[in-house]
Amino acid sequence: MEKQKQKSAAVVGGGLVGAMNTCYLSSRGFKVDLYEARPDIRTMEIVRGRSINLALSYRGRQALKKVGLEDQVVQDGIPMYARMIHDLNGTLRPIPYGKSDQYIMSVDRRKLNETLLTAAEERPDVTLHFQHKLVSCDLEKGKLTFKIEPANGDDSLDQTYQRNGGEDVHVEVTTDLIMGNDGAYSAIRKHMVKRPRFNYSQEYIPHGYMELTVPPHNGEFAMAINYLHIWPRNEYMMIALPNQDKSFTLTLFMPFDMFEQLKTGDDVVKFFMEKFPDSVPLIGEESLKETYFRLPPLPLVSVKCFPYHVSDKAVIMGDAAHAMVPFYGQGMNCGFEDCLVFDEIMEKLDSDLSKVLPEYSMYRSPDAHAINDLAMYNYIEMRKSVNSRWFLMRKKVDAF
Ligand code: FAD
Repeated sequence: MEKQKQKSAAVVGGGLVGAMNTCYLSSRGFKVDLYEARPDIRTMEIVRGRSINLALSYRGRQALKKVGLEDQVVQDGIPMYARMIHDLNGTLRPIPYGKSDQYIMSVDRRKLNETLLTAAEERPDVTLHFQHKLVSCDLEKGKLTFKIEPANGDDSLDQTYQRNGGEDVHVEVTTDLIMGNDGAYSAIRKHMVKRPRFNYSQEYIPHGYMELTVPPHNGEFAMAINYLHIWPRNEYMMIALPNQDKSFTLTLFMPFDMFEQLKTGDDVVKFFMEKFPDSVPLIGEESLKETYFRLPPLPLVSVKCFPYHVSDKAVIMGDAAHAMVPFYGQGMNCGFEDCLVFDEIMEKLDSDLSKVLPEYSMYRSPDAHAINDLAMYNYIEMRKSVNSRWFLMRKKVDAF
């Protein structure tokens, strides 16, 4: 019998979803090349980007389990059994997520990404290409063009630059499957938008976010550890998730015009003393003044689109397909579940991409759109409804 030719896949984006998809596609026998615009985060001192830690929940764990990584990831996570509400008068109120043994887990984004990249690299027929930024593509033909980003300290890439006299260096590849996992501002999706009958909507909410830190106090966590702390103040809110190093990462979600009204360090301290008084001694006044102005608040976008694929050649997943506001704690979890669902459809349809890709779009989009809507709803619930009496009567798990 004639041996089937090995199929190739180009995964664009080496974030959480791209790295996980690489593991799945390798397990399905693909020759996988992953292309990531940034340098290898495993070799970097400081990695800039979004949220330092994330809430991992059931759907994300199921996807990790299938590629054999659940135990490794969970052992470094910190369980959060309840929300801990910080009222203005300093009262603390826990609201459990579910039964006493149910929890979501705080995990370190960088560590998780590194774990997934290393796991991907160890699989058969996988090559990781860093500093490769997708600049154009022909989705129908499976053709991709990457610009090689110059690298400080990476000899091989710097030499390529020198050879080219400092001009941009481009690499072209052709592949059987383009897997677009390049995040909320996806370059692959931008190409899909130009196609007829592609539905697309995006919404920026008026709120932005900023991260602050509560360092350890006397070598210990400064607040109760196994909780997702929330300071709900109706129009805005602050949350805190615990880290392995005994610090907490605080995230302040607030309308941009409110951020802009705080112009000096003293304005910031005054605002925090009025609105989040119990947090000020934990953060420290000097640190608060300094961190608040270090980086501008970042925007939050929600994206819906359909379909997720082009013929039998290209498909988008994760934030590229359904970026959502972070208030349901499900962006990554949903992206991980995308990989699992796609793999199950591959199994069912014998990896026939002409059938798998349309089936994936049809099957996955209603669920992804629903989670997107729930995230938008939880935007109000977290900052406002947790203050109401009826909320306390309800039982919920798997969300923030
Ligand atoms: P990304 O993580 O954005 O990765 C995309 C990758 O593609 C990046 O590495 C990028 O460098 C690369 N890339 C981009 N463009 C190109 C290009 N042209 N060429 C090559 N590479 C490219 N989710 C949860 O489940 N739980 C949480 O608690 C949670 N908290 C959050 C808190 C905040 C403040 C925010 C903003 C988000 C949060 N999320 C959370 C959502 C989560 O961060 C995202 O859903 C998740 O990162 C999506 O993963 P991804 O791989 O699809 O995209």
